[in-house]
Amino acid sequence: MTMTRTSAVSAGPATRRVAIALHNVTKTYGSGETTVHAVAGVDLEVQRGDYLAVMGPSGSGKSTLMNIIGCLDMPTTGAYLLDGVDVRRLAERQLVKIRNRKIGFIFQNFNLIARTSAFSNVELPLAYAGVGVAQRRERALVALQRVSLADRVDHLPSQLSGGQQQRVAVARAIVTEPVVLLADEPTGALDSKSTVDILRLFDELSAAGRTIIVITHEDEVVKHAKRVIRMRDGRIVSDQRQAAVDALPPQYALSAHAEAVAS
Ligand code: ADP
Ligand code: MG
Repeated sequence: MTMTRTSAVSAGPATRRVAIALHNVTKTYGSGETTVHAVAGVDLEVQRGDYLAVMGPSGSGKSTLMNIIGCLDMPTTGAYLLDGVDVRRLAERQLVKIRNRKIGFIFQNFNLIARTSAFSNVELPLAYAGVGVAQRRERALVALQRVSLADRVDHLPSQLSGGQQQRVAVARAIVTEPVVLLADEPTGALDSKSTVDILRLFDELSAAGRTIIVITHEDEVVKHAKRVIRMRDGRIVSDQRQAAVDALPPQYALSAHAEAVAS
């Protein structure tokens, strides 16, 4: 077992804001002989602007950890601060609000609302957040433009390809300007061309300063991240940095270079 400790674990510059801080977090399911330690003591700090890939075999606790980070589930023990807020102290109503405002979820199977246009899917989180109609419309259109789907706003999910549906889901995730984008196997249901599109989009969002955490099994995805965490049996067993928090994501720099050479 290798433990690669990186600079991200130590305190960064005083101006750096920590987006996510987990302190000795555990999550236990069941009791007695059937107890499962899904997360068995995790310390993790994620700085604003970082781009993390989380790897690990099936059952290693990745989704449980993501559910905790996404405030869909509470730790059994330990502390979790999201953007400086101790989420354990929040009532359910506040938790719903913080989840809506601070987390942008992207799922393997897109989770778009069927029979509802791309535009309405993207607008919905803003409606929940109480944003007025005019601003909602403008921000939803900007988000759809951001994912190159300005010409598909009235399309239903069923009228879009898988890659396009995932781009709608990315637009929905970024429209609230969340503290962190949380993606669980975002390319798991996509063909290789759409995978390239989504990874390029993540690179662009990362280059623009977004904080991204992506669960994945794919080496292709891992190559794009600035930092790679591997889990096993509910623990982080390695933590490797591929690019500095403030640097461009590794593949973004490469593709920008390739484009410059080609033109
Ligand atoms: P991964 O996403 O890495 O495949 P999970 O976080 O889904 O792993 O699961 C970690 C462990 O916790 C597994 O042993 C799984 O069976 C168990 N587990 C996850 N969710 C529950 C639950 N709701 N109830 C009981 N056990 C669970
Ligand atoms: Mg999982």
